[in-house]
Amino acid sequence: MLQTLKNYFGYDSFRPLQEEIIQHVLAKKDALVLMPTGGGKSICYQLPALLMEGTAIVISPLISLMKDQVEALKANGIPAGALNSGNSDTENMDIRRECILGKIKLLYISPEKLISEIHFLLKDITISLFAIDEAHCISQWGHDFRPEYTQLNALRQYFPNVPIIALTATADKITREDILKQLNLKSPRTFISSFDRPNLSLTVKRGYQQAEKTRTILDFIDSHKGQCGIIYCMSRSKAESVAVILQKHRISAAVYHAGLSAMARNKAQEDFINDKVQVVCATIAFGMGIDKSNVRWVIHYNLPKSIENFYQEIGRAGRDGLPSDTLLFYSLGDIVLLSKFAQESGQQAMNFDKLHRMQQYAEADICRRRILLNYFGENMEHNCGNCDVCKNPPEHFDGTILVQKALSAIARADEQISTRLLVDVLRGNYTPEIIKKQFDKLKTFGAGREVPARDWQDFLLQMLQLGYFEIAYNEDNHLKITESGKKVLYGIEKAPLVVIKREEFIPKPKGRKKKVEIPASAPRLLPLRQGEEDENLFEALRIYRKQLADEKKVPAYIILSDKVLHLLSSIRPTTIEDFGNISGIGAYKKEAYGEGFIKLIKKHL
Ligand code: ADP
Ligand code: MG
Repeated sequence: MLQTLKNYFGYDSFRPLQEEIIQHVLAKKDALVLMPTGGGKSICYQLPALLMEGTAIVISPLISLMKDQVEALKANGIPAGALNSGNSDTENMDIRRECILGKIKLLYISPEKLISEIHFLLKDITISLFAIDEAHCISQWGHDFRPEYTQLNALRQYFPNVPIIALTATADKITREDILKQLNLKSPRTFISSFDRPNLSLTVKRGYQQAEKTRTILDFIDSHKGQCGIIYCMSRSKAESVAVILQKHRISAAVYHAGLSAMARNKAQEDFINDKVQVVCATIAFGMGIDKSNVRWVIHYNLPKSIENFYQEIGRAGRDGLPSDTLLFYSLGDIVLLSKFAQESGQQAMNFDKLHRMQQYAEADICRRRILLNYFGENMEHNCGNCDVCKNPPEHFDGTILVQKALSAIARADEQISTRLLVDVLRGNYTPEIIKKQFDKLKTFGAGREVPARDWQDFLLQMLQLGYFEIAYNEDNHLKITESGKKVLYGIEKAPLVVIKREEFIPKPKGRKKKVEIPASAPRLLPLRQGEEDENLFEALRIYRKQLADEKKVPAYIILSDKVLHLLSSIRPTTIEDFGNISGIGAYKKEAYGEGFIKLIKKHL
């Protein structure tokens, strides 16, 4: 098994659980595999497929996913193909013929195609195993339900002796049980790996308004030069307007949402995968087909509706295991809107519960990763050190007076006031609406003038989270003081609030870049130490990789991953043998690319 792993995939060891899972499948037993995105699920069925006689059938929900996987396999010298409606009839015929001749080790297929091909497959080819990727699509409880997936319940009956392995990154219990039940798996074993993704940093920014978000995003992208990422927005129009802002700042950005034509969506996705655009601004419609390993960051412009969604979406960053950053914006407006959606949904209680858990994450004053893992039923004993709470623990102060000012304004407005107007009252703003409602006559009008509006937004969010007031979603979002709010209002209890820390946005001096930037050809002042990464070499390798990718018409990361390029530019192998020993380079890639890369490295040295 290890030899096959090294030979085809270039890796020296298995990740946790991979080996057990592979052995289980080789013993022809059914399995359900739960691993986070980027955890390494594919190898769990690709390696057995290589070791077993016949063809492995992989069921996958999206053509783009199949394409990516087939390209990656072929790039490792593994014969693979896909049958789907994206192919021409002749292409599908050719692939069928190759399967019958036993030439294909892995055949990717969509669920509807599988059902229509079931008699052909049954009759004519030897099937080693069935792998059902993205298996949560079978469940209505999951977030990507696909009716076609439910037909897969026939597999067990048609192929009683072929092992079935179902794989997903969605771990919640209902979905998990649903998958097992619907697929009729035969005394299956469930493998659950840790959902931790230590390479993803976690940061939350609370109470930011639009202008501040924009500045933060531009700074963020500036500090991630040349690295690609995704910005998730709650609405289609927001995705579009954010893209326009980025383009104005000469950042290449594409838009992706369900309101666009299939062609436009495809183009956005392809451009992103092929590094032709740096950023995709998208709704949640984007992502399932993205196996791109070098997504370096994910920003959430709005709060997602559940931790499952959030985790799945940030999971698209850093599949290659390299450090990647995630940033979540969280504002009162999000809560109001998401609560409205939850209220109008068919499963009110469940959706409110999920939203609350998401809010707890965003409001956390303990290690955020512990909250995430705890949600997935995992206990983490230590703080992660890679989230904003760990790096910069929140400080509290006695906010009783602030809370009293806000609550008293709510009380004096007879609880007929929304947060937006409340901020105007506290700040003493004479807006037309305030005057019309005569809120300028309230005793508390202007009582919180000394606190900037954006800080009031933040404090009100904290008060909501602390349970001092509630939002009546069915009553124009008016605010209602709770029992514990009354205790603070009447001075019976104190209110601890978190100190707001904001980065100051210092305008950059013009021409600064010219002074600090060293031209690529500048001589190094100090020789590189052994094992230290040579950044100039990395750039040179990256350009060469892009050339190869364009020649072969595949995404750059299919040729070699970013991780491999980093290893190459720090280890700097000068023989083909040493090149082949780099983790992630199998026999096929050593043969195909060794010479070219070695030549470039030698020239560079
Ligand atoms: P997912 O669980 O999301 O399907 P993938 O199977 O796509 O994840 O794997 C994610 C990344 O991890 C890929 O780049 C893959 O090559 C890499 N990987 C998988 N197994 C190993 C391993 N044993 N050692 C090193 N890298 C691995
Ligand atoms: Mg996968």
